[in-house]
Amino acid sequence: MAWGKINDTKAHGLLDNKLEASVVKAVVIGNNVAGTTLAKAVRDVDRDVQIEIFTEEAVPYYPRPKLIDFIAGTVDEGKILFYPMDWYEKNDLRLHLNSRVERIDAPGKKIFVGGEWYSYDKLVLANGSKAFMPPFKGLPKDNVFTLRTLDDAMRIRKAAANSSKVVVIGGGLLGLETARALATGFPKLKMTVLEYAEHLLMRQLDHPGAEILQNTMRSLGTEVFTNAETQELRGDGAVKEIVLKDGRTLECDMVVVSAGARADLTLGKGAGLAVGRGVIVDSSLRTSDESIYAVGDVAEFDGKVWGMIPPALDQARIAAKKVLGLETPDYAGTIPSNTLKVMGIDLTSIGVVRSEHDPPEPSFEEIRATSADGKTYKKFVIKDGKMIGAILLGSKKETAKITKLIKEGSAIDGLRDKLADPEYDFT
Ligand SMILES: Cc1cc2nc3c(=O)[nH]c(=O)nc-3n(C[C@H](O)[C@H](O)[C@H](O)COP(=O)(O)OP(=O)(O)OC[C@H]3O[C@@H](n4cnc5c(N)ncnc54)[C@H](O)[C@@H]3O)c2cc1C
Repeated sequence: MAWGKINDTKAHGLLDNKLEASVVKAVVIGNNVAGTTLAKAVRDVDRDVQIEIFTEEAVPYYPRPKLIDFIAGTVDEGKILFYPMDWYEKNDLRLHLNSRVERIDAPGKKIFVGGEWYSYDKLVLANGSKAFMPPFKGLPKDNVFTLRTLDDAMRIRKAAANSSKVVVIGGGLLGLETARALATGFPKLKMTVLEYAEHLLMRQLDHPGAEILQNTMRSLGTEVFTNAETQELRGDGAVKEIVLKDGRTLECDMVVVSAGARADLTLGKGAGLAVGRGVIVDSSLRTSDESIYAVGDVAEFDGKVWGMIPPALDQARIAAKKVLGLETPDYAGTIPSNTLKVMGIDLTSIGVVRSEHDPPEPSFEEIRATSADGKTYKKFVIKDGKMIGAILLGSKKETAKITKLIKEGSAIDGLRDKLADPEYDFT
């Protein structure tokens, strides 16, 4: 009998009294950053608990940012894994690759995978999100991709090697990183980014910052069009042309759509859990079923689905203790921090950055500083005498110090003049 299948629970039945007090078997669905971090954190404090991890992917955990380097050709497939292959065994973690969980029976505390039922005492949903493909007219077409997994990245590299004009639809962090990675890996490609909003990185940048970024992207050889809403993808089988809503057309032979990701609610809904944009969790990362937790991109806490690595790490570490019934502070949210990882551009956006679209709010103060050559732009958002957000463009070395100021919520009284000085060095 394979380890962990349903009959094993019968053995646990002997431990019924103990079961109430302690977890004997934790099952994790998902083996990316949230699931792996949680499993490791559980193992770090409990050598005895059985931990089983299921992933539909064919390879163990790799950080998704590495996919950008893989596309650029600076990291090869063999170097993408976060842990050596024997790490799971050494840590007594049972990893099931190529194992898509089809169903959760919440009252029966079991999951259905590959024709077998597996029992759990505590279940953790770390099944993340899926890339979103907007319903453009003309889909499906060959040579149109989204990027989420190593498989996607391999398909993208293969197609790029035989393409000449690539359009990335979506000027968010991932879209810009993908465009620059393709330009690096395949220097002959003509790269264009289409952003439907009026400027790049609407969630991380304000207008002046976005203008500097757009000019830098152009100087690096990647064309950027804003206010460019895609309507249709044309071509006979494979994509040949993009038609924008305002009638403009663009020739292309490959498209990468980078239109965000959506929490994968299939399993949560099927299990009857409360869902919104994600599977809803409380400050213990517990879902509406007391034996099921959710962490990372699939979880919605306080109305937010974060879709980033730092909250996934925070949530996983806290949930690990909660799963084991150990004392630990509750989850209270994570200050978002985003760095654009594009060679030649240093951009970090931390906390509340406020764009011109946010409603006016007199209690917020904004201090901006632009260098004489227009290459460095800093913006600081202050509330009640404390820094709550910042944009740092072209000044990477100050990121750690500014992030610390924001996280610690220290008063900025003595710093006010320095914040307005573009040449001031906070390191
Ligand atoms: C190319 C790229 C670059 C990124 N760069 C950054 C960055 O620089 N900084 C940052 O903060 N964020 C970045 N992100 C976002 C970040 O990767 C995600 O926030 C993070 O991966 C979320 O982790 P997760 O473990 O919650 O979910 P996911 O990474 O979505 O992993 C979900 C896991 O669940 C498994 N799974 C799903 N459904 C099932 C099922 N039914 N059965 C079994 N297994 C299942 C999958 O196989 C996978 O193992 C990037 C994302 C991409 C795609």
